[in-house]
Amino acid sequence: MDLRLPTAGLDQYKSARQRIRVSSEAWGESNLFCVNCDSPALVRTRTNTPAIDFTCPRCDAFFQLKSHGRKLGPSIPDGAYSKMSEAIAEDRTPNLLALHYEPEEWRVHNLILVPQFSYSLSVIKKRNPLRPHAKRHDWVGCTILLGEIPQEAKIPIISDSKIASTNDVRKRYRRLKKLGSLSVEARGWTLDVLHAIHTLGKKEFSLREDVYALEADLTRLHPRNRHVQQKIRQQLQLLRDMGIVEFLSRGQYRLT
Ligand SMILES: [Zn+2]
Repeated sequence: MDLRLPTAGLDQYKSARQRIRVSSEAWGESNLFCVNCDSPALVRTRTNTPAIDFTCPRCDAFFQLKSHGRKLGPSIPDGAYSKMSEAIAEDRTPNLLALHYEPEEWRVHNLILVPQFSYSLSVIKKRNPLRPHAKRHDWVGCTILLGEIPQEAKIPIISDSKIASTNDVRKRYRRLKKLGSLSVEARGWTLDVLHAIHTLGKKEFSLREDVYALEADLTRLHPRNRHVQQKIRQQLQLLRDMGIVEFLSRGQYRLT
């Protein structure tokens, strides 16, 4: 993997946004690999498909690349709220590659992968609608709340210019793959419970004192569900099957 972004021929583009899009897509084509299979490369999507920039030539997994000239914060802007919530509900979200580059040096500093099955509706927030006199005044954008996505689902590929091994990235992706076989609603629960556990800030935790204390937060995210404690216990079992949570003794758990 080469961390330098290609800059040849960029002078012909007027806007900075266009320049980084062209450069990062060219970079992706020579440096990205598939996480869902062993393909060493991804190809650029030639058709004008919104939110899909790369596809895997072997397994058809699809990817969206979003590049930022600043360090990745707790949220990143995305497209229309209606489109994104529809994509989540219909299980059509792409694998998201969020890239941070240094604009002065044209170098990639950080790159994380959010697997396509790691979104729940609770990580998408509506942005304020455009002002009434704007051309698309009924258009409402959204923000992806990266901070609300559990850390297991933000897989580092490049961290502070350090490149993770391809094997390690694929292993982390595979560990979460079980989420892809669940319904969108069920996986939303698993992700929300996992995120809530992380907010405890502890490696070991107990069901009664710690996890049940999160009940109010989880009820707010899933207002229609009345059996929240039961749902929490189900998610803990799933997280154990995925190798993310370990059962210690009765009612005691540990994040692996
Ligand atoms: Zn693939």
